[in-house]
Amino acid sequence: MDSGVKRLCWAWLAAAWTLTIGLCPLGAQETPEQTFDALITEAMVRAPLEHLAADAFNGRLAGTDDMARAAAYVAGQFKEMSLQPAGADGGFLQAFSQGRRDVDRDKTSLALTLPGSEPCSLRLDKTFVPFRFSAQGALDAEVVFVGYGITAPEHGYDDYAGLDVKGKVVLIMRYEPSEKDAESPFKGLEHTQHATFEAKAANAEKHGAAGVLLFTGPHYHEDQRDELYGYHAAARRESVDVPVLQLVRPEAEKLFTVCGKELAKVQAGIDEKNSPQSWAMAGVRAKATVVFRRTQTRMRNVVAVLPGADEVLSRQVVVVGAHLDHIGARSADPDKPDQDVVFNGADDNASGVAAVLAMARAMTQGGVKPRRTIVFVAFDGEEIGLFGSRHYVAHPVRPLEKTAAMVNLDMVGRLRSDTLMVLGVGSGAGLKDTVDRAVAGLGLKVLYGQSAMAPADSMSFAMRRVPALFFHTGLHLDYHRVSDEASKINYPGLARVARAAARTVLAIADADEAPKYTATAMQQRARGARGPMLGVSALPGDAGGLAVRQVVPGSGAEKAGVRPGDVLVTVDGKAVVSVPDLAEMIAGHKVGDKVKVVLRRDGAEQTLEVTLGARAAQD
Ligand SMILES: [Zn+2]
Repeated sequence: MDSGVKRLCWAWLAAAWTLTIGLCPLGAQETPEQTFDALITEAMVRAPLEHLAADAFNGRLAGTDDMARAAAYVAGQFKEMSLQPAGADGGFLQAFSQGRRDVDRDKTSLALTLPGSEPCSLRLDKTFVPFRFSAQGALDAEVVFVGYGITAPEHGYDDYAGLDVKGKVVLIMRYEPSEKDAESPFKGLEHTQHATFEAKAANAEKHGAAGVLLFTGPHYHEDQRDELYGYHAAARRESVDVPVLQLVRPEAEKLFTVCGKELAKVQAGIDEKNSPQSWAMAGVRAKATVVFRRTQTRMRNVVAVLPGADEVLSRQVVVVGAHLDHIGARSADPDKPDQDVVFNGADDNASGVAAVLAMARAMTQGGVKPRRTIVFVAFDGEEIGLFGSRHYVAHPVRPLEKTAAMVNLDMVGRLRSDTLMVLGVGSGAGLKDTVDRAVAGLGLKVLYGQSAMAPADSMSFAMRRVPALFFHTGLHLDYHRVSDEASKINYPGLARVARAAARTVLAIADADEAPKYTATAMQQRARGARGPMLGVSALPGDAGGLAVRQVVPGSGAEKAGVRPGDVLVTVDGKAVVSVPDLAEMIAGHKVGDKVKVVLRRDGAEQTLEVTLGARAAQD
């Protein structure tokens, strides 16, 4: 092909492209807003999202070849855009590895033997799971049911009274007798410290048990999902010396049935009279092995650079990132060959990566010349502990003191009611105004959150004192389920979020001054100082607000009557948008302050006044 033909081809291509997107060649007359609005189309975000959320990538689990292929795809996209590689050896990949403690899936097992039958193996993560604080080791022993596994002389109650469990495996129900009965001889609706996993395990160990099997009894929890916490529970790290495992209720129920008893009746018997009903389950044996192992997970971020145009400011960078990894696939059930097993992670977070790619493509195609340098990153290992972003801040492309801000996009594909959440505006002076101006005209309602400490890659930057924003369109019922599919994405909405993020990134990149980092109330408090505490652990609810998971015994929340299952709507009249925002609201108070909490319970709103207690010293 001679050069004349080549030039002709290019001219033809350029003309075709211009026609396809129906756009004049971009010139000085066009503002960056117009550039982004014209170039970031639904098609531009749809293609990479559908590609990455396909079953072929098998859920993009960190440390797998699937994830490596996804990273290679993103690197290829960056290369096609003629961005500069910023990884090792002149490529786009920033590789690293991370040691982790994990359950050894090949060696960890639990089998139950019923009288007169063969041992029956349970399935890890399906019907049983070891607890994080469990000891490693093996056990093979008879099973003794010990009710709630509680010895509480102060409440005149002992599940172990008159029993010898030395060398036996104890089967224990979670919670405590009559846990939702205000009149219970325990502390009424409050959970005492006897109800915790660790207290039950420690008590079993004290009585000489060889191991512990925990399950959730039916009373008060019939309708609840029989969740396996186990290894994933945020239990404290201090370990016990015996294996501690959780099993699902149907497996525990079998043991009662074979003994000629009915679990619900046994539990009701304990609850009604506050009297233990423990007994050795004759002929029932448990055999278990718990093995943890150190694993090295090989990961890689994909890093690309668009150099800044300003002689001085180009030494500073704005990082825009999204995590590429997700949670993989579950093992196929041979009985259900048609079952969907791939966690496609279309919203979490193919959507964020698609938005970042679209932003980068629009900037390069549109000839945008930012004053500061822009670094585009697709992070690995977010789902297993923010490892990619933690690696990046330890090995940044430019020093962190030259990093003006970070903009993170995580789950931005489910725009509903035009509502976009932008968290972290409190981490840099003027950030809220910057975003406000940047999104003008896009028809978005923005819910602002002050704190940058939401558990996402932006947090890794905020912890290193880099102002960090987190764009997010909210949780939904498909979160971390196989149903988080590409077909459920709001593509026009995703394109609008990408435009909003592109405008924000460019506004920060072009500003005369970088946003000055502002420490939040929580960070300003001296390390170890005892701040005020509300006394709940909560998660974002499906329909807004924060769903209370646990209430700390003795806390102000508990005294005011907050219960697990309540949804916090407002505190002090301010909408509760994120967990870190709630923490910041509380941190702005003093111990002893009263806060007004509006919560939703059984569909109705209630207002409670909570007096803030002091945080325990070890927190
Ligand atoms: Zn995510």
